[in-house]
Amino acid sequence: MRKKRLNKIWLTCLGFSLCILCSAVFAPFTYIAAQPDDKSNEPNKYTDVPPNVHSSYHAFAKPVVLIDVGHGGVDGGTSHKGILEKDINLAIAQKLYLILRSQGYPAVLNRDKDYALSDDNRWLQSKSRHLKDLAQRKSLTEQLPTALVVSLHVNWTKRTEKRGPIVLYQDEGSSYLLAERIQHSLNRLFCMNRKTVYGKPFYLLNKIRQPAVIVETGFISNEQDRAMLSEDRGQKSIAEAIAAGIIAHLTAW
Ligand SMILES: [Zn+2]
Repeated sequence: MRKKRLNKIWLTCLGFSLCILCSAVFAPFTYIAAQPDDKSNEPNKYTDVPPNVHSSYHAFAKPVVLIDVGHGGVDGGTSHKGILEKDINLAIAQKLYLILRSQGYPAVLNRDKDYALSDDNRWLQSKSRHLKDLAQRKSLTEQLPTALVVSLHVNWTKRTEKRGPIVLYQDEGSSYLLAERIQHSLNRLFCMNRKTVYGKPFYLLNKIRQPAVIVETGFISNEQDRAMLSEDRGQKSIAEAIAAGIIAHLTAW
């Protein structure tokens, strides 16, 4: 009788042990399955978050610098004989991201490949691809703990002699100061004395609640600027100058 009872206790213990073992082995797989869908299944070295950040899940506890990479996919932006703005923006953005991260500043790119952000936007009922693109950019700033937004673009004008970087700011003090710091840093690189501009008509600057600036990194229509914008060394210098302006802003207080 006693032996039978001992056997029963032993079997109960074995059952519990197996339960604990099963939980330990299978729990991680349950967690992975609960993650948001990964569009590409490739690790995203520029964001460290799942490429699909539509859910409330994100990996950042600290505020990040959101690098808004202008245009992408079907939207090439401005161009000159096959040189496309979207490619220049992405190349500079990736360099800027790596510089900031290497110096310990959390940064995120809102695209790290050539695609249109409007394709990710399945929540806005609008036929306008442009509006869906802009709304998607704004939405990402709300889903991430965004400290500030730096939007990268390239300029164009009929007047081919016109050159140099221009930083546009919001109707807000912190945005203005950030713009001034980036402009100052880029002016030194370009050996120019360009002024920042209030970007009143720009959707992104009007709609984003965090301090945001648009950096027009140069004129693709100008030969000298174009050489800098399309070469790896020039892109790196521009990225370094923008990073210096951002870091000066983040460390000002
Ligand atoms: Zn642009």
